[in-house]
Amino acid sequence: MRRPLSLARGLVWFRSDLRMQDNSALYRASQCCEYLAALFIACPHNWKSHGEGDALVAFRMACLHELQTRLQTRNIPLYCLNISTFSQVPKALQQVALRLKIEGVFANAEYPINEQRRDHAVRDILCKSGIHIEYYSDRTLLPPGSVRTGNGEPYKVFTPFKRTLLQLCAESAVNPLPVPRKMPILDGGSHWPKWLEMGRGVRLTQKIPSQLPHYSIDNTVTGMVKGWKAGEKEAQKRLKLFGERITRYQAERDFPALDSTSRLSPYLNSGAISIRQCAYMALSLNDGNWQGGSEGIACWISELIWREFYTHLLVDFPRLSKGQPFKLETERIPWVYNQKLFDCWGRGETGVPIVDAAMHQLNESAWMHNRLRMIVASFLSKNMLIDWRWGERYFMQHLIDGDFASNNGGWQWTASTGTDAAPYFRVFNPYSQSQKFDPDGTFIRRYIPELASLNNREIHNPPPVSGYPQVICDVGAGRKRAIAVFARLK
Ligand SMILES: Cc1cc2nc3c(=O)[nH]c(=O)nc-3n(C[C@H](O)[C@H](O)[C@H](O)COP(=O)(O)OP(=O)(O)OC[C@H]3O[C@@H](n4cnc5c(N)ncnc54)[C@H](O)[C@@H]3O)c2cc1C
Repeated sequence: MRRPLSLARGLVWFRSDLRMQDNSALYRASQCCEYLAALFIACPHNWKSHGEGDALVAFRMACLHELQTRLQTRNIPLYCLNISTFSQVPKALQQVALRLKIEGVFANAEYPINEQRRDHAVRDILCKSGIHIEYYSDRTLLPPGSVRTGNGEPYKVFTPFKRTLLQLCAESAVNPLPVPRKMPILDGGSHWPKWLEMGRGVRLTQKIPSQLPHYSIDNTVTGMVKGWKAGEKEAQKRLKLFGERITRYQAERDFPALDSTSRLSPYLNSGAISIRQCAYMALSLNDGNWQGGSEGIACWISELIWREFYTHLLVDFPRLSKGQPFKLETERIPWVYNQKLFDCWGRGETGVPIVDAAMHQLNESAWMHNRLRMIVASFLSKNMLIDWRWGERYFMQHLIDGDFASNNGGWQWTASTGTDAAPYFRVFNPYSQSQKFDPDGTFIRRYIPELASLNNREIHNPPPVSGYPQVICDVGAGRKRAIAVFARLK
């Protein structure tokens, strides 16, 4: 419980929480401030250095447009500041707060290390100016650091983490927060300024930029990015529709040709929907139970907890944010740095149909099915022995749902460098995965028309076909080499 607070003017600083419903910082600000404004700070230079790609940033900006419209209905103007790097944020935010006569700033915590450092610096500078600042834990079901072993240590293995988390979650109800109240118009008629010159060419405006340095984000105008409609309203619609098929989730989730997963990841990562809203929907269809009941629902909750697990790990093990593997001994692996082979993988030209179809899905739609993420990641990091960090970065540059914690966790799991990772001798066989999860080749045919006429047996490992590449590496030999180099680490 936070202490009661009563402020005249508050500022909600939006980051990866672009929604009005169930937003801890926004709700609290609306409760304790008389007047409220909102701010988003675009830092394209930093985003680029974090590997964030066009689709991710375009989707974020499109969500921001929708949020601005929704906030207007609550008399909360959303300002946008376009600066270059995180290091400029503290000073800029201080200036904005002083110019708008803000008494308190409210934000939801972000966990990668650069974001944490930025937020500490903001806290310091605002405190020096006598401006109140509050950060909320809003991105996860439980705050990072709160799920501990009996010895007070962080969990390094998923299953016991999940068990403890579920026990803790069952002790308190999940109650998503309502939208904020309608705020009074500032000073009974006069308005928040439309824009302010901040000096050095920086302008605080209520206009969301349609262009950003380093990025091509033109499609934000339509609110549609590569077929993904942005915003909170669309996220709620998807959640509701998914609720109608959630009981089939466990049985169908591994088949990429089926539309059986929720496809909520871009919305969760931009914050257009909250993790509590997702859990609330699942619980309400499962008689309030976190475990048991429908296998499909329990399985989906478990996937939400993988996201939770990776986010908690990020906070407990800062080296994950610094490009280091969880298992430090895997730094000794003689990774292959072959740009040509890597580019073939990226373009979906490996000659292994399921891998290529998956990469086409990513390149064309900015999203990839989870089963395929594991297959292509295993192919790159095990069969080709290419450094998993190359793949991690490629994913970040192309995914619309790029999330540092889940992406890093997924790559390290597959490459066997992570905590609770796949055992090193477990190398996905792309051909048998293909036969098992795309048995009649429907998914492959959708993305590789050159193979469409092959029969269901040939399509997984085709004979030479005009217009389709020969396989670029020896899959079996690659597997043996990977197992051997990992075994030598012992
Ligand atoms: C190599 C690799 C890289 C990945 N990179 C990302 C990434 O950048 N961003 C991202 O959100 N997910 C990532 N994942 C996890 C997972 O593939 C996606 O979350 C999932 O495919 C999104 O589709 P969905 O929303 O339909 O998921 P659903 O199956 O409907 O699951 C619901 C939600 O649970 C979470 N979730 C599901 N599976 C996982 C998982 N294995 N790990 C963590 N969270 C999970 C996601 O938030 C997802 O939206 C990665 C997985 C791998 C193997």
